[in-house]
Amino acid sequence: MKSRHVLTGFVVLLALAPLVLPTFQVTLLNYIGLYALVVLGLVLLTGVGGMTSFGQAAFVGLGSYTSAYLTATQQLPAWLEWAAGSPWLSLLIGILLTATVALLLGALTLRLSGHYLPLGTIAWGISLYYLFGTVKTLGGHSGISGLPPIELFGLELDKGEKMFYLIWAILLLAMLVTQNLLNSREGRAIRALKGGQLMAESMGVNTFRSKMVVFLISALFAAISGWLYAHNQRFVNPTPFGLSMGIDYLFMALIGGVANVWGALLGAGILTMAKQWLQDLLPWLLGDAGKYEHIVFGLLIILIMHRTPGGLWPMLMKLAPAKLRQRKQLLPEAGAVGTPDLPRRDLPEKGELILQAKDVTRQFGGLVANKEMNLEVHAGEILALIGPNGAGKSTMFNQLSAVDTPTSGEVLFRGQSLKGKSSREVATLGMSRTFQHVKLLPTMTVLENVAIGAHLRGNKGVISSALHLERLEETSLLQEAKRQLERVGLGDYLYEEAGSLALGQQRILEIARALCADPCLLLLDEPAAGLRHKEKQALADLLSKLRSEGMAILLVEHDMDFVMGLVDRIVVMEFGEKIAEGLPEEIQTNPAVLEAYLGGAD
Ligand code: ADP
Ligand code: MG
Repeated sequence: MKSRHVLTGFVVLLALAPLVLPTFQVTLLNYIGLYALVVLGLVLLTGVGGMTSFGQAAFVGLGSYTSAYLTATQQLPAWLEWAAGSPWLSLLIGILLTATVALLLGALTLRLSGHYLPLGTIAWGISLYYLFGTVKTLGGHSGISGLPPIELFGLELDKGEKMFYLIWAILLLAMLVTQNLLNSREGRAIRALKGGQLMAESMGVNTFRSKMVVFLISALFAAISGWLYAHNQRFVNPTPFGLSMGIDYLFMALIGGVANVWGALLGAGILTMAKQWLQDLLPWLLGDAGKYEHIVFGLLIILIMHRTPGGLWPMLMKLAPAKLRQRKQLLPEAGAVGTPDLPRRDLPEKGELILQAKDVTRQFGGLVANKEMNLEVHAGEILALIGPNGAGKSTMFNQLSAVDTPTSGEVLFRGQSLKGKSSREVATLGMSRTFQHVKLLPTMTVLENVAIGAHLRGNKGVISSALHLERLEETSLLQEAKRQLERVGLGDYLYEEAGSLALGQQRILEIARALCADPCLLLLDEPAAGLRHKEKQALADLLSKLRSEGMAILLVEHDMDFVMGLVDRIVVMEFGEKIAEGLPEEIQTNPAVLEAYLGGAD
């Protein structure tokens, strides 16, 4: 049984449902479809992007009210008369309006960190809700009634059984589009938002833009759901667009499984059905004096979230037969014939000055972590930065990679000052790095993790990704990731989860990712830490080979054996200052260095 067959079966069952089920059940399925569309947006926003929103119901309201106002108001103002009466035209206007509002709200709130973002979403959720209830032309608390049914190919969708098909077709389409998007270059950038922003920025990803994209998509899904809802009910009032519904949507996402497209459907289904059953069952058990269902419901949610923090979908998949769970082979088996190679940067001439630190000083309050540091790295050369613990190496590394800004002095990369440049801009110029504490996305495959490194070498955007029109470029990017993985010796692990690799392999993965950016300078922070002897040997061979191809490499490293046999020159730091510089054999006999290491901490 393949997942494709399961999917086909599901669609066939869906198509038959309105023909065999009683109206009441079809209505319930319609609600599930409408909710699932909103929750799908939350899967993207909260589950994948890591941004919690309580305000989605307000976007549903925006879609609903726009259409209600334009199609059912008796006397529209003259300037709006052209838009009167047509649900499809008002859908378009609703989408444009929602996009505008979402861009504004996103610009205001997405830069907020921690708890401020959810609080911000509550704030706008409440204000839009009250707006719907107080504006006279929107009917106040009694709302707007008499909405026309949607017409499709001359057919009036005036019954739940007919709306069913439109609702579920749109939902399935939205799920497909979301799935496509997630499996693309843009999608990898989005998936890096949760837990990998610093890494993604240094690979050239504009993380704020990615946040905006998912925020916008989730708002649009909600607005479209609102539009469908309005024309399904044929009337609107503010109640279903309040904060409590916003919280319900979030619950649905959490219960279903926040990081999966199918989790949206599962969560919406379970919550809607459970509510229904409890409403029927509890009065029968306990008498209908109190609203017990709310209490029992709350308890159930707590129980589920406690038992399955990742939601029910991942749990369900564990029970499913192995074939259904297989990771998608992203690349054509035999290697893609006819995939163009990605364009490469012209490497600088051997010996050309690539990186230069000039009197770099970095103070943290009274502590001088780097003091008037000078160093140079040339094309086709490996420079090691060594020193005991706390000497200031990592701080220096951050100045060189534009993660941090020197208190005084400057860093020049290929002649350009890095002052005021973001790590993203530096990546564009051809600098690529690894991290002392490995930064990768543990649940993504090794191949996808490495492909993030190639982000700047593609340019296909959100829409072509969602519509699957970027396959050629996508294959080139993945092919490049595969090539780099084979080059560093991880070719056997393409479809493993990155988090399942040994630490040493994860470090090597980071090098492959850095190489994917086609850099002319590699900055490596302790690349040999955690590697076994053989792996170190292989890494040294790889770095030598890169050097012979003209790459400039700077590495911070503890392992003296590794450094001495490999590098061209060494800069030694202690207490934030350079205490020695020279060839490995000079450094090994330098009295100041021996003193620092023997008398020092390490
Ligand atoms: P190394 O990488 O050589 O072990 P670091 O560059 O990490 O050394 O640290 C150098 C000194 O700067 C240490 O005393 C450390 O405590 C201090 N330091 C590093 N980063 C910060 C920071 N963000 N704020 C305050 N002190 C810091
Ligand atoms: Mg360090």
